[in-house]
Amino acid sequence: MKRVLLLHTGGTLGMVGTPLEPDAFQDRLLEVVPEVPKVADVDIHIVCNLDSSDVGPPEWTAMAKTIGERHDDYDGFVVVHGTDTMAYSAAALSFALEGLGKPVVFTGAQRPLGAIRTDARRNLVDAVEVATCSVPEVGICFDGLLLRGCRSVKNDARSYRAFASPGVEPLATLGTDVNLRAHIRPPTTAFTCIPKFEPHVDVVYVTPGLRPKTVARRLEDPELRGVVVAAFGMGTVPTQRRALAPVLADAVERGVDVLVVTQWGGTVDLTLYKNSLELRAGGCIPGGTMHVEAAVPKLMHALARYADPAERRAYLLRDVAGERQ
Ligand code: ASP
Repeated sequence: MKRVLLLHTGGTLGMVGTPLEPDAFQDRLLEVVPEVPKVADVDIHIVCNLDSSDVGPPEWTAMAKTIGERHDDYDGFVVVHGTDTMAYSAAALSFALEGLGKPVVFTGAQRPLGAIRTDARRNLVDAVEVATCSVPEVGICFDGLLLRGCRSVKNDARSYRAFASPGVEPLATLGTDVNLRAHIRPPTTAFTCIPKFEPHVDVVYVTPGLRPKTVARRLEDPELRGVVVAAFGMGTVPTQRRALAPVLADAVERGVDVLVVTQWGGTVDLTLYKNSLELRAGGCIPGGTMHVEAAVPKLMHALARYADPAERRAYLLRDVAGERQ
């Protein structure tokens, strides 16, 4: 039987009460979902027990470290996680676990394990099953789909179909059979675990009328190392009244890395409009098709991994796990 390590981090799946809060669910897991041990030989490791709005770089480091250290002992890994920030954590692990040759499958639920009509049982069994398959990627397994972790977004808090990966077909569909799709990426490098993230990264969400002064004040934080800019369209920002591009160029000048993504869920092209060219001229880095959910952990990882700005830029421009395609 295949061996799977299940990392528990928290989330609705294991919560109880009103309001919902984390419970010691892990003790009852195999009792409540007796199908799990029939699918794989599962060990459980508790990383933390949090609502995922409290999960961030320290927990990403702990998850990645555990998988790095136990990598050779298991055929695959399942991470039970709250849905709210699951896409960020899945992306973070895609970067920290480069050259992954085994599945790392995130899952969770919209209703707790103990609730009537819960989606937790199915998601958990599906995730464990996927963790025994040949899927060398970090994925999110939810409502019968396996999605690429670094391209996923949570787009519904009420429906059981909580996640989507816009522009990327599911890596697998789970119906009567598990259908693996041909675009699953084989590893292109040897496996390395680099569980590091620089937490001093901010996000600027561009809106009409945004005051450059307000942004400039935020970017003056002496601890700040990086900024993800969620720009309009193909990567445009105001350059006339309330011009934002000079404020971002100033930040680059002071050594802050500025990574530009788009709010619309497509790709950034900083060469198309004059209102993007100023960003390019100011040294901002185009983020390709990354969503904020992937851009934030990738920038945090790049800053922790490379001291040299040119190496960081090259890494951010490189497609590591399918996040830029
Ligand atoms: N607030 C919960 C969490 O992210 C939501 C969920 O798990 O679905 O931990």
